[in-house]
Amino acid sequence: MKQLTEPEIRAAFLNCSKGEAKRMNLPRDLAEQPWDDLDFLGWRDPQAPDRAYLVAVLDGRPQGIVLRSTGAAAWQARRSLCSLCMTSHTGGGVSLLVAPKAGPAGREGNSVGAYMCSDLACSLYVRGLKNAGAGSRLHESLSLEETTARTLANVAEFIAKVTA
Ligand SMILES: [Zn+2]
Repeated sequence: MKQLTEPEIRAAFLNCSKGEAKRMNLPRDLAEQPWDDLDFLGWRDPQAPDRAYLVAVLDGRPQGIVLRSTGAAAWQARRSLCSLCMTSHTGGGVSLLVAPKAGPAGREGNSVGAYMCSDLACSLYVRGLKNAGAGSRLHESLSLEETTARTLANVAEFIAKVTA
């Protein structure tokens, strides 16, 4: 993906207030992110690890979603699958992340959840740049291009649910 600036990232968020987007903690090393190998930018709040964020460029426009981690302890011992990149992890490598819905529905407490790589490093797992352990990637006949297109399509689908 193309490198995004801090103002572009803060302006991208769809499901939080402008104030929250202004105050949120961005990755400290924004310029050092492996942009060329990212399908989307995802990070944990360095000061509040139960908060996570993802930003993807969809239809040429950065779109960002605020997420909360639920302490889904029952899941942590088993192998579970990221719904975005289809990498499976054990031991807490996958988290149920919940996004408040955009607009009035979110203010009424409605949210959308999905299982995702806890560190939101889907792009790196898919490219083999980060290893989730033996058996973490299914043997698929898809090319990297097809796999990354699928990841981005899954992100777009999730964002569409949040903004619906
Ligand atoms: Zn993933």
